[in-house]
Amino acid sequence: MKPRVNILGVGVDPVTMSEALERVEEFFSARSPRLIATANAEMLMRSTHDEELRSILNGADLVVPDGAGTVWAAHHLGAEMPERVAGYDLAQEIMRRAPSTGRKIFFFGSAPGVADKAKSKAEELYPGIAIVGTRNGYFTAAEEPSIIDQIKKAQPDLLLAALGVPKQEKWLAVHLTELNVPVSIGVGGTFDVMAGVMKRAPKWMQRAKLEWLFRAMLQPKRAGRLIALPKFVFKVHASKQ
Ligand code: UDP
Repeated sequence: MKPRVNILGVGVDPVTMSEALERVEEFFSARSPRLIATANAEMLMRSTHDEELRSILNGADLVVPDGAGTVWAAHHLGAEMPERVAGYDLAQEIMRRAPSTGRKIFFFGSAPGVADKAKSKAEELYPGIAIVGTRNGYFTAAEEPSIIDQIKKAQPDLLLAALGVPKQEKWLAVHLTELNVPVSIGVGGTFDVMAGVMKRAPKWMQRAKLEWLFRAMLQPKRAGRLIALPKFVFKVHASKQ
């Protein structure tokens, strides 16, 4: 296992998609709860002032380089980072293999109805897949025990949690042991994209590393968050000195 690359205080694993998938298989076999985080520039920026998030990321069992910004940062710091491993793509690749590996999956998060639509989409894309439960991501503290119960009873091998950053990472970290699911991943807007609520950037924009621009165009509300990107570039550069 290659050592993690320290980007603004968070260790990111320099893995390719296929190496990440190998690690996931090891985690499935180990059967003790593992947390996977998908580190993009925005998450890394947030972790510079959110100590709880930073320590969760550093304690995660695998931190994949989600996004062009993370790969750029590693290279700028003189480290190896073979390719971008987007959380969305990682989730799809695990699901693609799930019908033959027999891994069961639970979809937790997003607005009411979205995880169910994503489940139908997964069943269409990956025939034979076992999505053993869904639950929307809007809940009160009083509802948490019943959510935990629902997930435990469904006995998934993989829990995909889409509550947004950093809520999903914090929620998973707190409940990881109790849930006892072999693999948990925070997947942000994945169900929205699968359900067709949100579009993913066209391939040419992904290749041109412009996925962030596409997101901002589609959701002007998020545009304010873009300021994190130049700040990220600046901070990474400053951390090199
Ligand atoms: N979300 C949720 N519960 C919440 C807040 C957000 O389920 O309390 C969902 C939201 O509906 C969306 C997903 O979290 O499907 C990710 O949101 P966003 O794209 O803002 O996340 P990020 O870019 O931070 O991963």
